[in-house]
Amino acid sequence: MEVRLLRVTADGESLVSDAVRTSSEIAAMSIETIVDNDYSSVLEHICFTFSIKGISVACSRELLEHRIASHTARSTRYCDETDFRFYEPSLSADALRIYREAIESARKAYVSLIELGVSREEARYVLPLATHTHYIWTVNARSLINFLSLRLCIRASPEMRELALQIYKICCEKYPRIFKRIYCRGVTLGVCPENNARPKECPFRGIIKTKSEMMSGILENLKSSQNEGSEQNEGEDG
Ligand SMILES: Cc1cc2nc3c(=O)[nH]c(=O)nc-3n(C[C@H](O)[C@H](O)[C@H](O)COP(=O)(O)OP(=O)(O)OC[C@H]3O[C@@H](n4cnc5c(N)ncnc54)[C@H](O)[C@@H]3O)c2cc1C
Repeated sequence: MEVRLLRVTADGESLVSDAVRTSSEIAAMSIETIVDNDYSSVLEHICFTFSIKGISVACSRELLEHRIASHTARSTRYCDETDFRFYEPSLSADALRIYREAIESARKAYVSLIELGVSREEARYVLPLATHTHYIWTVNARSLINFLSLRLCIRASPEMRELALQIYKICCEKYPRIFKRIYCRGVTLGVCPENNARPKECPFRGIIKTKSEMMSGILENLKSSQNEGSEQNEGEDG
């Protein structure tokens, strides 16, 4: 996988300050406050364009789920995929052998179909989800925070997590005051919404509470204040 930054908004922090002043006549609000308090609409003025080479079609489908972004992918309808490269998960030697055989069998089928005069757009259906693709992805800083928060999570697929990590490093280099304040959703929000789905390998277990742990106390409080309110109303009605 190769992730390169093609373009990024220059001097984005002053652009964000201009947006804050226009919106609220506040002389200055720190970028840290904007990130921490999630006043994030002004971060939409900062845009990144990445070239992402060598991710699987499966991973590119996950990336496409992030709708607040612009996506361009290598076309299997028009491009020759005879020499396609492919993603390999970390597997045992036996499993890897079966995996590679399946990929090579798909390649053989693809080549045979092309040789028979089948068009690329029809032959491509035999290509595996592991086939590497090339992607151009343009996304604003607010949407990137959402993407990174979801995909740096230990529950994200390993390939997607690797992609998110590479993107995160670039973002931290370019705009450290924004991106060094965020990570997976637990860190970004200060509470982990994964609840029971949080795996034991999560590095933030014991540091960041789950949402259900936080909510149990909050809901108790809410219930008793609602009860107090209705008792008071009944008294007043009588
Ligand atoms: C660990 C993990 C497992 C997943 N498993 C699955 C799965 O099994 N199946 C599956 O289909 N997907 C799965 N996803 C993908 C997930 O459901 C989201 O589609 C994906 O992460 C994109 O997130 P998003 O909608 O927040 O991003 P974006 O599409 O970029 O949207 C950003 C934000 O804009 C708002 N928004 C965007 N569109 C709408 C809309 N139409 N209506 C209202 N608000 C909107 C929301 O607030 C959203 O958070 C998984 C994701 C993760 C991280």
